[in-house]
Amino acid sequence: MTQLPLQAILIQALDAAANAIVITDAEPRILWANTAFSTLTGYPLDESIGCKPAELVKSGLQDPQVYQQMWKTILNGEVWRGELINKRKDGGHYDEEITITPVCAVGDKVSHYIAVKHDISARKNAERKLRESEAKFRLFYEHAPVAYQSLDITGRIIEVNPAWLKQLGYQREAVIGRFINDFLAPGQDALLQQRFSEFLSIGSTSKVEYDLLHCDRSIVSVSVDGLVERDNQGAFKKTHCVLHNISTHKRMEKKLRHLAATDALTGLANRRQFLEQMILALARHLRHGTPTALLMLDLDWFKQVNDNHGHAAGDAVLKHYAKVIQSSLRNIDLLGRLGGEEFGILLPDTDSIGAYEFAERIRHVAAAQPARLQAKEIAVTFSIGVATFMRHDPSTDVILARADQALYRAKANGRNRVEVEPPLARPLGAAR
Ligand code: GH3
Ligand code: MG
Ligand code: MG
Repeated sequence: MTQLPLQAILIQALDAAANAIVITDAEPRILWANTAFSTLTGYPLDESIGCKPAELVKSGLQDPQVYQQMWKTILNGEVWRGELINKRKDGGHYDEEITITPVCAVGDKVSHYIAVKHDISARKNAERKLRESEAKFRLFYEHAPVAYQSLDITGRIIEVNPAWLKQLGYQREAVIGRFINDFLAPGQDALLQQRFSEFLSIGSTSKVEYDLLHCDRSIVSVSVDGLVERDNQGAFKKTHCVLHNISTHKRMEKKLRHLAATDALTGLANRRQFLEQMILALARHLRHGTPTALLMLDLDWFKQVNDNHGHAAGDAVLKHYAKVIQSSLRNIDLLGRLGGEEFGILLPDTDSIGAYEFAERIRHVAAAQPARLQAKEIAVTFSIGVATFMRHDPSTDVILARADQALYRAKANGRNRVEVEPPLARPLGAAR
């Protein structure tokens, strides 16, 4: 077997290298290039030889300062390393990492250059794509109409967007690095703590509602959707949350709830709301045995008020007495309009004697304060039926029925009076 001379083996080795290798003279014109160079640039060796590298691959996309720096270095006899954007024969571009080594074949004057090139297009393109998507994200983040926040694992604010700052009225400096708790309306710390640890362990959160505090101390209700960002090892990096402002929605909801529970004429609890509260009161009574009473009030001969003064005057009279009665109540008592000219009063912590005495007081307070309409005085009396809650009461209906029965008796016994069902054991003085 004939042995190849070492020089031939070296040339074969250079030709087989994965990196492109180019050897030029000092001018610099290409003397030799390997197959990887042809693959990278698209120029076969016979087209490359004798050309200056710049004539073949210069893209015009490179900052001229890079070339100046390169020439300054290699003319000085030093190795230069850098990155270049070059052009292929087909016009396409590629990125290379290049090392140029000046060689002094004879004496100390540079006679040749050896350039070793590594194709880094894939990495560079990936970096460009990432930069583009980051720029897009930034653009969206800065201009999104919806508030955005990022927290660290302790709940400290890492980042918020302009919409967040606008929503809560703060300057950026007053927010970054603070705990999110500092921006929470009072009384929600425990809730946040629990929800935040759930969020961290599950990795996402959806439609969780909080009340935040605007810098003017007003409440901003938000609904939060979020994700946890983790690194490649799965360790927590930060949270990403979007905060939808639901304050208007919440205000509307509250208003609607209020409207649905309120009597339009008097502003008192309506029948539905009153009955709901009675159900709760009965549940409390059955659980704790605390005495509770129901008063049912009906205005006497009210039809005549309408007949004599008109329906509008009748309405004004109803409003007047609603106010008069309301002002005699404790704040745990509930006054409601059960219908037409009929009212109900729910009295917690009150037994039948207490309820009877209270009903008598109402009757007297009402008698002492007749309605005054356009210099006319309209006095109306009340008949009142009293019922107390009992331990065996299966539902509020039976309590209402007893109060109704007592009221019926009050009417039958001459009106402007109080009756109790079941009747009180010992007779009590009527009016006082
Ligand atoms: P009684 O002493 O037996 O209760 O006599 P009354 O006239 O009060 O009883 P009745 O049930 O015969 O009439 C109740 C009247 O209340 C009938 C209705 O005109 C009047 N009324 C009911 N709701 C309203 C209201 O919202 N506004 C006005 N102005 N009147 C009402
Ligand atoms: Mg009546
Ligand atoms: Mg009536």
